[in-house]
Amino acid sequence: MSELKLCQGPSCHQHQTKDRLKGPKDNKTYQTRRRSGFYYGNGNFCSLNCQNDWFEKFGNRAIDHFGRTTEVKHLTEDNAWQKAYDWSGHDEQLYIYRNGITKEERPLTKQQYDDQNYTLNSS
Ligand SMILES: [Zn+2]
Repeated sequence: MSELKLCQGPSCHQHQTKDRLKGPKDNKTYQTRRRSGFYYGNGNFCSLNCQNDWFEKFGNRAIDHFGRTTEVKHLTEDNAWQKAYDWSGHDEQLYIYRNGITKEERPLTKQQYDDQNYTLNSS
């Protein structure tokens, strides 16, 4: 069997749905969902409910761990770049970076577009 992922929702097994009821006929239990992939929370949760359960339980600790925002942030030319997909283009260049302040556009490769770490933003 291929690798199945487990939903990371701490209460997944407590949401009583038919598809979570598993096991031998005389000993079925509600179980954490297992799938080859999930659509929520970067592929970690089977549903928005389970994602919300996780945040309810761990969200404050996660924010404190990775750094709580303590000052207002401002949109400036240096951090206004947003990736966009140009629907009008019939040529090769479909992916662009558009600056929300200056309206400047720069070409992007598909690889850069898909790379979540690639950015022109400095802050
Ligand atoms: Zn779940």
